[in-house]
Amino acid sequence: MANELLIKNIRYLLTMADDPLDHSSGSAILIRGNQVVEIYPSGTGLPEADRIIDGSKYLIMPGLVNCHHHFYQTLTRSLPRAANAKLFDWLLYLYDIWAVMTPEDLRSASAVAAAELLLSGCTTALDHFYVFPNGDNSFFDAEVEGVRPTGLRLHLTRGSMSLSRKDGGLPPDSLVQTDHEIMNHTADVVSRYHEPEPFGMLRVVPAPCSPFSVTEDILRQTAALASEKNLSLHTHLAETEDEEKFCIEKHGLRPVDYMEQVGWLTEKVILAHSVWVNSDEILRYADRGCAIAHCPTSNMRLGSGIAPVVDMLKAGVKVGLGVDGSASNDSSHMIQEMRQALLLQRVKYGATSITSRDVLRMATVGGAQVLGRTDIGMVKAGYAADLIGINLDKIWYAGAQADPPAAIVLCHTDNVDLSIVNGEVVVEQGRLTKIDLDELVSRHNQNSAKLYKRAL
Ligand SMILES: [Zn+2]
Repeated sequence: MANELLIKNIRYLLTMADDPLDHSSGSAILIRGNQVVEIYPSGTGLPEADRIIDGSKYLIMPGLVNCHHHFYQTLTRSLPRAANAKLFDWLLYLYDIWAVMTPEDLRSASAVAAAELLLSGCTTALDHFYVFPNGDNSFFDAEVEGVRPTGLRLHLTRGSMSLSRKDGGLPPDSLVQTDHEIMNHTADVVSRYHEPEPFGMLRVVPAPCSPFSVTEDILRQTAALASEKNLSLHTHLAETEDEEKFCIEKHGLRPVDYMEQVGWLTEKVILAHSVWVNSDEILRYADRGCAIAHCPTSNMRLGSGIAPVVDMLKAGVKVGLGVDGSASNDSSHMIQEMRQALLLQRVKYGATSITSRDVLRMATVGGAQVLGRTDIGMVKAGYAADLIGINLDKIWYAGAQADPPAAIVLCHTDNVDLSIVNGEVVVEQGRLTKIDLDELVSRHNQNSAKLYKRAL
């Protein structure tokens, strides 16, 4: 029989499943193998288990779901020449550095991003990887090698760019591939890595970088592949006003209209950002079942604008949160991202427009819906054992015990104290259990320094 883990005497349980046991103290959760099998109210007899964790200091809740990231960008955080630029100028500068990245650079970058996400409560992440220097497809395998040892559940995109600067795109020639190469390798990694079954730890998502960095043909072919293989589809859309102008000049269409024309407004699609969308486009997202990865820190950092998330939620659009890449957020902290989402929406819509529960929902069950999953996002019998514990006796929550879930959003939160992914304890007492973090940070800093030197 699979190993059993019991978390007992829980201080505060937040299931996100509207369970009657929500908020009750003294409850317990039994995990068998990679699933939650039962939740016990306070005062009931508890079974034996191979391992028992005392939950008397913890808020226990579902692990957070990060819907948009670029792990490789942990190599180029907070670079002076990119720190104060808007998106297109920022991209033009950084592409030339990313173009000389090696698979080993990506291995350490992916492990660093995964480690930061796990420490900040994320248990599942979608990583939008689309940079294949000199057409080297082994970068995809390097990212898998970087993330797997950390224990993070991963939706890894096979991203793509096919329009270089000479074709009116932004990346250099060495970062683009032909349509044929892109589609062949996408089919290859789907067959080698994609785990569609419940509790799958690695799923593959075709993901052109953006409508302005690939051909129309790639957009149509990836949509057809996603439909045939029942895969999600991902890209950036309507991130900046510059993109809107570019799309109107090049195609005579606004970004959302262009995507509709190429068959991309479907329930498979996850769109990062969507800052520059109008009310008609929001209704179309809701009608077609398109999902949005909202990235508030990145939108503020690049000065891109405020996404109309409150209007999207009212219209019934699926919305999750993303920290976005580490060159436009510089931090991969999921709990901070909830806080940023709450505060930024209030700047636009006012204090009563959105609550801590709304952003907690976006970061858990909302994110699971965005990724097309019904096995994560809640603490519930039959769901994956992906959950986190936060010590409510920390100084950040002193005087904030009246509503602990709101406290972790509104007060300062550093890291989680406990994280379990797929039934495995990956963070314990605030420390990663599966990898040597000091060794990783040292190796990654060396890789990052060597990368800048090569790019100069
Ligand atoms: Zn992005």
